[in-house]
Amino acid sequence: MTSKLGEINLNLPNHDNFHAQLLGLTDSHIHYFAQNPQFPQKKVGVHKRMLPAFQALVAKAKELGITIEIASGFRSFERQLLIWNNKFTGKTAIKNIQGETLAFDKLSSWELIQAILLYSALPGGSRHHWGCDIDIYAPNLLSQDQQLQLEPWEYEQDGPMAKLSSFLAKEAQLLGFYFPYDCYRGGIAKEPWHLSYAPLANQYQQAFDIKKLNQCVGKADIKGKQTIITNLDKIVEQFIVNINPELLSTNTQVTGAFHG
Ligand SMILES: [Zn+2]
Repeated sequence: MTSKLGEINLNLPNHDNFHAQLLGLTDSHIHYFAQNPQFPQKKVGVHKRMLPAFQALVAKAKELGITIEIASGFRSFERQLLIWNNKFTGKTAIKNIQGETLAFDKLSSWELIQAILLYSALPGGSRHHWGCDIDIYAPNLLSQDQQLQLEPWEYEQDGPMAKLSSFLAKEAQLLGFYFPYDCYRGGIAKEPWHLSYAPLANQYQQAFDIKKLNQCVGKADIKGKQTIITNLDKIVEQFIVNINPELLSTNTQVTGAFHG
């Protein structure tokens, strides 16, 4: 199929829309909506089949005075590519796990790639391509002069999102939502704002195919391509499949595959 989101054509047969979704090459599975009626142009996208569970989560939080909004939902391959290339070329700062900005010009290509992967996924390897993974926050828990940074301290006990965190700890799993990056496992940094809807996410995770990712990266205009391809096995192992095992072992509760 020819992707409507990018120039990358993996020559996938038409029925293989599922793999195009997996790699962020299509948004055929995405429902877009405005979160704030004051800004109708500002839309986020989530997986169509996650919408009922997400709306239930939002409604439950609302009862407790927490207004859940999505900071980042669906992201296409192209969008992730832009984030990646901006970091690789130093247009966007790269931070280490201590929050210090790295001198990117002093790093080897492989060191740079590993540093980017701590916070930003490889295009084609982002869970945000699936639409069933979202970064959430509660704007009404921020004071007037506060701006969300998406840093772990904000979601901890004394941070502005503490109330949201304790709500999620109690309620998220009951609706099928898990934290894939619940702690740092030597790959992606801890992300207490990133929720994954297990019934859909586990199907994408199980269908993940390194050969298709390799093909996709190979055809993209991506910085560091050669080093990425040389180290792709390591990248997948350390940064893509290295997530919360509790999520992976969840019974998906979806009868039949939803491919298509
Ligand atoms: Zn995220």
